[in-house]
Amino acid sequence: MQRTKVKDLLQGAEVGKEVLLKGWVRTKRGNKYVNFIAVNDGSTINNLQVVAEAEKFPEEALKDVTTGAAIAVTGELVASQGKGQAYEIQATSIEVLGKADPEAYPLQKKAHSLEFLREIAHLRFRTNTFGAVFRVRNAMAFAVHKFFNEKGFVYMHTPIITASDAEGAGEMFQVTTLDLNNPPRTEDGNINFEEDFFGRATNLTVSGQMEGEVAAMAFSDIYTFGPTFRAENSNTTRHLAEFWMIEPEMAFYDLKMNADLAEEFIKYVIRYALENNREDIEFLAQRQAEEDKSKPQNERQEMTLIEKLEMVVNNDFERITYTEAIDILLNSNHYKKKKFQYDVSWGIDLQSEHERYLVEKHFKKPVIVTDYPKDIKAFYMRLNDDGKTVAAMDILAPGIGEIVGGSQREERMDVLVERMKSVGINPDDMWWFLDTRRFGGCPHAGFGLGFERVVQFVTGMGNIRDVIPFPRTPQNAEF
Ligand code: ATP
Ligand code: MG
Ligand code: MG
Ligand code: MG
Repeated sequence: MQRTKVKDLLQGAEVGKEVLLKGWVRTKRGNKYVNFIAVNDGSTINNLQVVAEAEKFPEEALKDVTTGAAIAVTGELVASQGKGQAYEIQATSIEVLGKADPEAYPLQKKAHSLEFLREIAHLRFRTNTFGAVFRVRNAMAFAVHKFFNEKGFVYMHTPIITASDAEGAGEMFQVTTLDLNNPPRTEDGNINFEEDFFGRATNLTVSGQMEGEVAAMAFSDIYTFGPTFRAENSNTTRHLAEFWMIEPEMAFYDLKMNADLAEEFIKYVIRYALENNREDIEFLAQRQAEEDKSKPQNERQEMTLIEKLEMVVNNDFERITYTEAIDILLNSNHYKKKKFQYDVSWGIDLQSEHERYLVEKHFKKPVIVTDYPKDIKAFYMRLNDDGKTVAAMDILAPGIGEIVGGSQREERMDVLVERMKSVGINPDDMWWFLDTRRFGGCPHAGFGLGFERVVQFVTGMGNIRDVIPFPRTPQNAEF
């Protein structure tokens, strides 16, 4: 007999028929006449109730049917008398496929803290919270590909191992086959990377942008969606050492078109999740509301999770320049009352507290900040006519802060080479990148969006470690 998944059974597709259910026991409760076994197989947040009459299943027959055990059940799918579910299975046979010793199985009925569950990341998938989070993540990943493919973008796989180190200096994981206890040395005593596997020093990618730009100069519109690595020693709730970045790159786009695309994209992915994973998001919203109750009044959410997501998809993002952002901050009561930890003046890199003020207190919606000072942004961002700012944009979201960093790229060869030199990059090392300007260069733009940050936003999870299946953070890569 073919197995049917819980999600389909709960829709009543096979009511009145004999069905085969396989999954993991969440709970078992009952009395001397009947037992009710709640089974989940990961296809939905809901469990399917299995009814096991004591006549057919004496206590002995169910002794290994305990929380966490894998079971196979056959029986008739019938309309349920009980509240909370439309259908249940009247069991005729129950087979235990894999036991879960109640003394040892860590996920007993009580609620567990997220911190505890992080230590058993391999088992947390079996909880309602993480089941919901990772189904939502899956739907959003699918929506990413759907959005770009509907627009005719080409999905481009950029390399994981790369020699390009233009960005992220100091944040890179080096890749090497050299014996670092006894590495080959050059005459002046440095490690001789010419003897390394690739004949040079290489690292894990911190961004696929430059390779993406190269491809956009042939396909017009491309996107990457892949793992990205940053050895940042920051123990924040928004940084991972390994995260997934979406990086579209478009020829013939300016900054405004870039911002329009990013806004449309974010709304599309959120809307897709709301439409396709409603039950999971409703569960997560409920979870957040309960978590909120234990917080002090001023830290509580003003809107429910669903209200917040609907507000975002149904309203225009605010758009301001960096200079306007600085003015807003300087004129705020928050600043006058000296409530910012970091001082504000034109030229500073906006700190997380500044970003959150703009989004959460001032505008109360996502904000696109453009035209940052050139000295705090990367060399490849297009220099504006004022000579002081670049055509950069960051998108800031309530509760998260930066979710997107992007820009129009500098397509003018002479300006680009000048900017490279000013930040100490040897243009000869980037000959391949400069070729895109040398041969048929054109205005183009792109952005990078941290996938986990958007998953955090949609699921309402406070810590980025709780929206990636196997988080990689300082001191943590056990499995
Ligand atoms: P932040 O200011 O938060 O450190 P960034 O400015 O260093 O981010 P970018 O280089 O602009 O990041 O990368 C593009 C996007 O990738 C960011 O907007 C963010 O969404 C995401 N991102 C960057 N670093 C991380 C990280 N360590 N973990 C998860 N996402 C990240
Ligand atoms: Mg950073
Ligand atoms: Mg930043
Ligand atoms: Mg950035």
